[in-house]
Amino acid sequence: MTPHTTVFERTAASPAAVEHALARTVPTPFWTDDVRGSRTAYPPLGGDADADLVVVGGGYTGLWTALRAVEREPGLRVVLLESQTVGWAASGRNGGFCEASLTHGEENGASRWPDEMPTLSRLGIENLDDIEATVARYDMACDFERTGQLAVAVEPHQVAWLAGPDAADGADVFLDRDAVQAEIASPTYLAGRWDRRTNAIVHPAKLAAELARVASSLGVAVHEQTPVRRLDDSGDRVEVVTDGGRVRAPRVALATNVFPSLLKRNRLMTVPVYDYVLMTEPLTTAQLDEIGWRNRQGVSDLANQFHYYRLSADDRILFGGYDAVYHAGGRVRPEYEDRRPSFEKLASHFLTTFPQLEGMRFTHRWSGAIDASTRFCAFYGLARAGKVAYAAGFTGLGVGAARFAADVMLDRLRGLDTERTSLAMVQDRPWPFPPEPAASIGINLTRWALDRADHREGRRNLLLKTLDALGLGFDS
Ligand SMILES: Cc1cc2nc3c(=O)[nH]c(=O)nc-3n(C[C@H](O)[C@H](O)[C@H](O)COP(=O)(O)OP(=O)(O)OC[C@H]3O[C@@H](n4cnc5c(N)ncnc54)[C@H](O)[C@@H]3O)c2cc1C
Repeated sequence: MTPHTTVFERTAASPAAVEHALARTVPTPFWTDDVRGSRTAYPPLGGDADADLVVVGGGYTGLWTALRAVEREPGLRVVLLESQTVGWAASGRNGGFCEASLTHGEENGASRWPDEMPTLSRLGIENLDDIEATVARYDMACDFERTGQLAVAVEPHQVAWLAGPDAADGADVFLDRDAVQAEIASPTYLAGRWDRRTNAIVHPAKLAAELARVASSLGVAVHEQTPVRRLDDSGDRVEVVTDGGRVRAPRVALATNVFPSLLKRNRLMTVPVYDYVLMTEPLTTAQLDEIGWRNRQGVSDLANQFHYYRLSADDRILFGGYDAVYHAGGRVRPEYEDRRPSFEKLASHFLTTFPQLEGMRFTHRWSGAIDASTRFCAFYGLARAGKVAYAAGFTGLGVGAARFAADVMLDRLRGLDTERTSLAMVQDRPWPFPPEPAASIGINLTRWALDRADHREGRRNLLLKTLDALGLGFDS
């Protein structure tokens, strides 16, 4: 059977329009560029130290762990060690969708933990509410806006996927073609569903910087340019070894995500998959008027290979997703970040979505490593006789879930039985990825199958059905 085309192929932008849109981009994440002059630098660790808790990694997971630790136990001596700078990795270059979901979406969670889904949904909303309250409590300047999210159907077969009862309070509603167009004018939209509760948009790099500022103001010792080389056992403590010294502590939280784990058992639990993003110049008032988007929702479409997009505080449009590229060997490398075909595809899809904006330019192009795990959401565990906790593998949806992960690690390091730690979602350990070359073959085959499904009205082929049945698979 001949595969169908998608709207992005049926109404592709001209190569000249794509070339014009990309011509003046710099290969840098907009978010980190935006805070370049104002960010606080933290000194490297020099010499040996003792602590009550060492956190390894200065992305959201590490930063929330350090902050929550001193909120939960004021006066605790917490040291955070980051190999480069706070928020340089995924946490400073993501789309800034701070979602309630702890399971990378309802569908993924419900397929794996159907009985727990009501609890997981409630805990996810509570987590997002707590993030909002934290931002307000410490006056964190991170452009946090609880706009909700708008899922849009861009192919006829996707409209049915948005069906379902509306919330009685109007917080989660189906929008037909006219209603969705009234929110945001795109000729590609056939229908939408706007859930106001389950998402906020943030400035990712500001959020990371502000978490570090607040943690530091509450007594956390933050050290940048301090890669941790290994963990040594030392009686009832762990020695966290860096080039310039070591920190001894009874408890260690590993928040190193997609980077090589300090625990051998976790080396094959996450793989980096590169995701690509563009940022436009700020829209003029006239351009915004043409599009609408007064309610500033985070938007995503519904294909397996989906796009996500949102406004920044200064009314730029961030447009990302679709391509997700795995490089054989599974390493995080700067040279993987600049991939012309992915940016051209994104620019073309942007112009298909908003033809009114033809002529405007993108200013920034970048990519980052998605922290893929085989269950599409974070996994949690303890090692070294309960002295070391870890959480990783958010598979592209960790902005909000990182805070939940922080509390899970802190509960477990304290040996507490909580609602969080009793979840099967927290206790289950997913399958690792197979070693190379099987990892490359499997991941790329799955990507091919997902793309093919999008070109066959969403129908999934035998490979995807098999992976689904095993609870394995791949998504961005
Ligand atoms: C392009 C892109 C778009 C995304 N969009 C979204 C989105 O819109 N919404 C969403 O929810 N999620 C999104 N994500 C995913 C989200 O950004 C991540 O899930 C989240 O930032 C993970 O935070 P983290 O702290 O666990 O990991 P990271 O931000 O990767 O931080 C890990 C840190 O650990 C440090 N580290 C590693 N090893 C060591 C060591 N040995 N010693 C010291 N330090 C070490 C690293 O230097 C790094 O700073 C996106 C990701 C990408 C790449």
